[in-house]
Amino acid sequence: MIQIQHLEKKFGKLTVLKDVNINIKRGEVISVIGPSGTGKSTLLRCLNLLEWPTGGSVTVDGEELLSADKVDAPKLRRKMGMVFQSFNLFDHLSVLENVCIGPIKLLGMSKVEATRRAMRLLKMVGMAEKARSMPAELSGGQKQRAAIARCLSMNPEIILFDEPTSALDPTMVSEVLSVIRTLAKQGMTMVIVTHEMSFARRVSTRVLYMDQGVIYEEGTPEEIFDNPRRERTRVFVNSIRDFHFAIHSEDYDLYAFESELRNFCNKYFLSEETVQHAVQLAEKILQHIPLSEGEVNLVFRYAEKTGNLALEVLMPAELEPVLTSIPEPELTELKNSCSALHEEIVKRSGKQVRMIKLFIHSEK
Ligand code: ADP
Ligand code: MG
Repeated sequence: MIQIQHLEKKFGKLTVLKDVNINIKRGEVISVIGPSGTGKSTLLRCLNLLEWPTGGSVTVDGEELLSADKVDAPKLRRKMGMVFQSFNLFDHLSVLENVCIGPIKLLGMSKVEATRRAMRLLKMVGMAEKARSMPAELSGGQKQRAAIARCLSMNPEIILFDEPTSALDPTMVSEVLSVIRTLAKQGMTMVIVTHEMSFARRVSTRVLYMDQGVIYEEGTPEEIFDNPRRERTRVFVNSIRDFHFAIHSEDYDLYAFESELRNFCNKYFLSEETVQHAVQLAEKILQHIPLSEGEVNLVFRYAEKTGNLALEVLMPAELEPVLTSIPEPELTELKNSCSALHEEIVKRSGKQVRMIKLFIHSEK
């Protein structure tokens, strides 16, 4: 359906995309992941010509876009719907009008017909009740679902999503992801730039890892997330699954810690109980560590395969053993509230550190 060959995009002297090659088949769901600033948005924008590529070719349904004398950009954009991080709804129009305006103005559809179709699409994204609401009255998740309905109203052949959930409150991410998952089940062709790794794993047929302007590695979700072949992919995929929090003194910001941990857990659809449990366990351990004698690092690791959430508490190797210093009733209580608990000296980045490791049970 779409062939991208040797695509290049420069902004002045800055080369943002270097030699990008992708073939997209009908019905594929492709997730694009990678560090920020590597050109993921630019790639999507080059596909629907919001940016003009500086080299290479893009062929859509056999039609070469870049060398053609006259490219019908509006027609192309109709084929490729785009959903943005920031919704881009028309604020002065109701939800229903937002979904009707394209078909009426650009497809020449009658108002009655456009309204009928719009209501069907709004129903599909769970927004029929809000048809008469203005965008300002909606939550972020509702705005994004309205934006998806608007995109669908143009009958696109492919939808490009640019981080559709990254402007949302964590509580609203899953309602938008559910809608995208429904579209995938219906066979919609999609390219999704996302930071939601567990979602990317579940929904995609193929994952592209972008780094520094190239597709650095691509494969099935299992290949990319479980067995990445190249070093930078491995580092990225692992860093996304870990949550790090550094503590420099006894006055560390407990609220920041809790809310960042909650965001991390939300990403993997872990329950509120798991968050609370993890916070309590971390706090109990921290009470027994002298926090003024060197940095203490907390690393939460989530293993999607097993559903286990583990916590590593890393501290300077010189500190006295911690677990043996905890008085008996409390130590037993601690041991009972997690599925494993041990302490050892390990090597991290070439340095010896003392580590307490515990497994926080998760419900999956
Ligand atoms: P990503 O979506 O992966 O975070 P972007 O595609 O947004 O990355 O940006 C890649 C690089 O291109 C960044 O260094 C960014 O500053 C630069 N860039 C993006 N758009 C423009 C532009 N219109 N003019 C100049 N530089 C840009
Ligand atoms: Mg981006």
